[in-house]
Formats: sequence, structure tokens, C-alpha cells
Amino acid sequence: MRPDIREITARSVLSKSGIPGMKYCVNPYVGCSHGCRYCYATFMKRFTGHIEPWGSFVDVKINTPEVLRRQLKRAEKGTVMVSSVTDAYQPVEARYELTRTCLDILSLFKFPVSILTKSPLVLRDMDIISKLDDAEVGLTITTDDDRIRKIFEPFAPPVPARIDALKKLHNAGIHTYVFIGPLLPMNPESLAQQIRPHADSILIDRMNYLSKTEWLYKKNGLVKWLDTDFIDDIIARLGKNLSTKDISVIC
Ligand code: SF4
Repeated sequence: MRPDIREITARSVLSKSGIPGMKYCVNPYVGCSHGCRYCYATFMKRFTGHIEPWGSFVDVKINTPEVLRRQLKRAEKGTVMVSSVTDAYQPVEARYELTRTCLDILSLFKFPVSILTKSPLVLRDMDIISKLDDAEVGLTITTDDDRIRKIFEPFAPPVPARIDALKKLHNAGIHTYVFIGPLLPMNPESLAQQIRPHADSILIDRMNYLSKTEWLYKKNGLVKWLDTDFIDDIIARLGKNLSTKDISVIC
């Protein structure tokens, strides 16, 4: 989907974060053209006056670098998540390079950085990331099956491209993790086998957004994936096949 892109200015881009282990988050964009059907960040529409469908718009906070520099001068040290309510490497980033500039600034101020993305565009910034004193990169990989990805994450990069990005980052000596969240229909043995060599740790989360997605499970004959006991078994199979890894299950 080609989103409507609008340039805006922001008063603040460094926000306090309630995510465990993250003191701050930076979101250079409002909206996300990956348009995942389960996206929890759709609440941002309420605060920004958007009524269009999620995924069809992106606001670009064009003054992000100046504002970030100003805010970091006064901020206590702490890990900065890039990003929390948008994907900082969604396609518009290739043109604006705000995320790349933010990483440069965070590096100057020596703040630890934690990146989470679905996009191999993060590879563009390996030169900066590998020079950061304290950085990790997470790839969100929710299934091994690209047909499932197309149902739930229709405009996000394909699964093989994410696994390839994970591998390249890990091979470059960058600390990597995989966020399997929300856990989508998958072959757990296949997914574990593909990510195990390239991830230092794994974080698993269940599908917590059924009000948005239950109809998709029903429409696509995936109803068994709504059963809690069935999902418990999938998580156990993932755990067994990722046995050498540091694994956390959120809930
Ligand atoms: S990539 Fe993340 S922020 Fe973007 S639509 Fe998907 S879940 Fe939402």
C-alpha cells in the first residue's frame, strides 16, 4: 500500500517508555504503512486526528533530529527503544533517513539503543549500529509461513527477508533477538530451526488483539490457533527447539 505522507513538526520525540528494560522510546513517524491487522498502535489515530485506515497514512516528524538533540541534553541515561508505536524502518524511512540520523545522535550522546523492526532496511544502518557501545536489534518474526504473514501483516516485509536480515546482523557481531509476537500460525520446529543460529535471545508473546483479528482466523480456517491449550503446546515446541537460547515468554 502506498500511504499518504505528510510532513509535520513535533514538540517532543523522546518519550518515557513503560516497556520493561526501556527508559525511553523515539518514534520519528506517526502511523505505519506495514499495516499489520493486529497492530496495537492504532490508538495513535485518536491522538493525531486521523480517521483513515491504519496503514494508509504516515506523518513524518521532520524536525526529529533537532528535537532529539535538545531532549537528550537534559535526559538521564537509559535505553532508547527505536521505535514503539511505529516501525522506524518502514518504507518511508528509505527517503527521510530520520531513524538513521537518530542513531547517529544517540551514538554521540552515548545512549544504549534497542531497535525492533520487521524490515531489512535496518541493514542499511549496520555501519552505525556496529559502532554503538550498547545496541541490540530485534527482528519481529511471527511465523515461518509467508502465506500467514500476508494475511496478518499484508504490507510488511516477507519472512525470508527478515530472517536474512537477522542473519546478517548476527554475522556482523551485533546483538540480535527475535520477537515472536504475536505468535501466528506456524510450524514451530521450522521457525526455531531457521532463527536459532542467528538470535542471541527470543521473546514470545501471544495474540492479544483478538478483537481485531478473530475474524481473520475464522475466514482463513485457522480457528484452532485461537485455543489457549493449543498455543501452549506450540510455545512448548518452540522452547524445545530453541533450547540453547535465552527465551522469555511474555504471557
Ligand atoms: S510493523 Fe508494528 S507498528 Fe507497524 S503496523 Fe505492524 S505492528 Fe503496527
